[in-house]
Amino acid sequence: MRAYVDHELCIGCGLCTSIAPDVFAMNADGKAEAVSDTTDANGESVKQAIEGCPVAAIRETE
Ligand code: SF4
Repeated sequence: MRAYVDHELCIGCGLCTSIAPDVFAMNADGKAEAVSDTTDANGESVKQAIEGCPVAAIRETE
């Protein structure tokens, strides 16, 4: 699976990049992007990022 960030919603707070830095990174527009797949090793931190995002901009895709 791979996380998807809705850039219409993302406010660039950086929380997801702090919680799961191996998965999320900020792009040149100041929005978060998933830069790697969700794995067993980072799945819990991705879940925390999804739950913690203040604007619910992150979801999982297949
Ligand atoms: S936590 Fe949500 S609003 Fe904040 S940077 Fe990540 S996707 Fe954007």
